[in-house]
Amino acid sequence: MKRTIIVATGNKEKMVEIRQIITSKEIELITMKDAGVDIEIEETGATFEENAILKARAVAAASGCLAIADDSGLEVDAMPGELGIHSARWMGHDTSYDIKNAEIIRRVDEYCAQKEAGSRNTVPAEADIHRATHAESNMQGSRHPGCEPDGTPGPMRSARFVCAVAAVWPDGRERTARGVLEGRVYTEQKGFNGFGYDPIFYLPEYGTTSGDIPREEKSRISHRGQAFRKLQAILEKEC
Ligand code: IMP
Repeated sequence: MKRTIIVATGNKEKMVEIRQIITSKEIELITMKDAGVDIEIEETGATFEENAILKARAVAAASGCLAIADDSGLEVDAMPGELGIHSARWMGHDTSYDIKNAEIIRRVDEYCAQKEAGSRNTVPAEADIHRATHAESNMQGSRHPGCEPDGTPGPMRSARFVCAVAAVWPDGRERTARGVLEGRVYTEQKGFNGFGYDPIFYLPEYGTTSGDIPREEKSRISHRGQAFRKLQAILEKEC
């Protein structure tokens, strides 16, 4: 018999990805809405794991069923302490991702430009390298700060998607797992396959953003894919 599991999310795009990842024949995934669970869950945790547990716990308590939840976000190294667990709320829930993504690009450009200017002023040997880089890139057109001479985002633009998932059983058992996808902040928004911050999340091995690769490919490599596959293994063992 199939085990019914309630997924504690109201996000339709996430649900599509989760259904693509958890493919076990033993498991039937249903949404909170389908389960008739209509509760607001405050994400007051200090970590992705704490927030995932809070959501799964609340839905397990309200339904009496096994519940799973995820908490995810984008960490941008040029913007420490911002985004992360606050990714959904960053700049306000009602601000469009077009605007949020444009602002992240602007901030990362600014950070990289300052760093590059700083290294030009303080380290003469590196200044020569930068002048050479600029001369080279000027020949190819304008180069974004923090990018390689070929225009692709460099390590100064590093970022990662993080996803923590949690399962909470009605008997009180709790398990968590985590997945991480490393990437870089791109210089423009590109691609229509993903959601949220996907259009600016550049994957060096693909030469494009996570919003520009097929959804199935994203699920194969993504932070959410990694975390939910680990959780699927736990569920198959413990259900
Ligand atoms: P939450 O996990 O529902 O709290 O939301 C996490 C935030 O990070 C949302 O703003 C999402 O848009 C963003 N986010 C999480 N995973 C992804 C992803 O795979 N692509 C794009 N944005 C994501």
